[in-house]
Amino acid sequence: LPSRYHGSEKSVWVEYIQLALDYKPLNLGQGFPDFAAPDYVTKALSEVATGENVLLNQYTRGFGHPRLVSALSKLYSQLLDRKISSQTEILVTAGAYEALFSTISGHTNPGDEVIIIEPFFDCYDPMVRAAGGIPRFIPLRLNKTSGKIMSSDWVLDPTELTNLFNSRTKAIILNTPHNPIGKVFTQKELELIADLCKKWNVLCISDEVYEWLVYKPCKHIRIATLPGMWERTITIGSAGKTFSVTGWKIGWAYGPAKLIKNLQTVHQNCVYTCSTPIQEAVAQGFELELGRLGQPESYFLSLPRELEAKRDFMAKFLSDVGMVPTIPEGGYFMVADWSALGDKVNLEQETDELKDYRFTKWMSKNVKLQGIPPSAFYSEPHKSLVETSVRYCFIKTDEKLQQAADILQKWK
Ligand code: PMP
Ligand code: GLN
Repeated sequence: LPSRYHGSEKSVWVEYIQLALDYKPLNLGQGFPDFAAPDYVTKALSEVATGENVLLNQYTRGFGHPRLVSALSKLYSQLLDRKISSQTEILVTAGAYEALFSTISGHTNPGDEVIIIEPFFDCYDPMVRAAGGIPRFIPLRLNKTSGKIMSSDWVLDPTELTNLFNSRTKAIILNTPHNPIGKVFTQKELELIADLCKKWNVLCISDEVYEWLVYKPCKHIRIATLPGMWERTITIGSAGKTFSVTGWKIGWAYGPAKLIKNLQTVHQNCVYTCSTPIQEAVAQGFELELGRLGQPESYFLSLPRELEAKRDFMAKFLSDVGMVPTIPEGGYFMVADWSALGDKVNLEQETDELKDYRFTKWMSKNVKLQGIPPSAFYSEPHKSLVETSVRYCFIKTDEKLQQAADILQKWK
């Protein structure tokens, strides 16, 4: 293995998807909906594949299928209140993963520092290191020890953040709404990040794959809309999250042409072009949603409405058994502290060094409920911060969530 990948051999996804296959627990681990996507997108896909325009099963434009980049341009031009070019300011990618990869590889030189906020979606760290960059971590810290904990109680220390920026800083990776905490960054928090980016001439990589999954009264703010930020921000989205089709693996990045150009160079030399029928179906989905944006029947409003009730249900059943959840204000994950249940689990039966790995494995095998160990989202020195926590996914049918509640209640 080339040295640039040393230390990245382990993947929590590879390990836990296998664990789910081996022990068949109720799976609240990897994040994906277990219910149907809106039928207009899935029908569009089946019609595209078998329809009259047979060319829709062949290669399409490398930087993005024309109908999809056109829909994305309409959508984001409206949301950002600026004209976004479908040709030069948007790149369609193989999921948000490839958007992240093309952004990081396309903008990092060996020795460049990249600021990563912990916990972080786990691929940020290996992607930065593979590009020769140096990740510099800063944890969100819980500023509360009792009472109801909201994701907004996890905050950055402004001085710590300010001190991280220096002349070697190339980029900061922001993720709002946040996986796994569910934090939705506030205007004030984004302004601090924006001011530091401008002061040090730093690129902001904004992972906004959960942009539509925000719970009242929070609002998703796109950092690219802050003064002076469009020219230094690359924003990343995902069709998998937007239309509840995570298996479709289509994502995108948008930003000013001079920044997107570098992503195109990486993309054209690895993936080159993404699946045509899937892009066509996603485009049709956006066209339909564009006509009802902001209206109650919009999927972008009905899905979070549905999820909010699921979030509350999960928070209650976790609390009922003695866990202490952080109530997420966005996204579809919940992190909970399980310390109070420590004497009910036999951690000795597992061999991992970190307790959250032992807890989640023991639970998958013995209680038949799977979660994800949150230390996977931390750098080595900070993993112990979350050793007594677990991450559960709540974008599941009400029946599945009820079963999870029953499993925990019975076990306790
Ligand atoms: N970023 C975050 C924060 C995520 O949770 C995910 C989950 N898949 C991704 C990026 C990757 O998205 P995709 O499935 O579109 O590659
Ligand atoms: N984003 C999803 C999660 O955090 C899926 C991650 C993955 O499949 N690698 O669970």
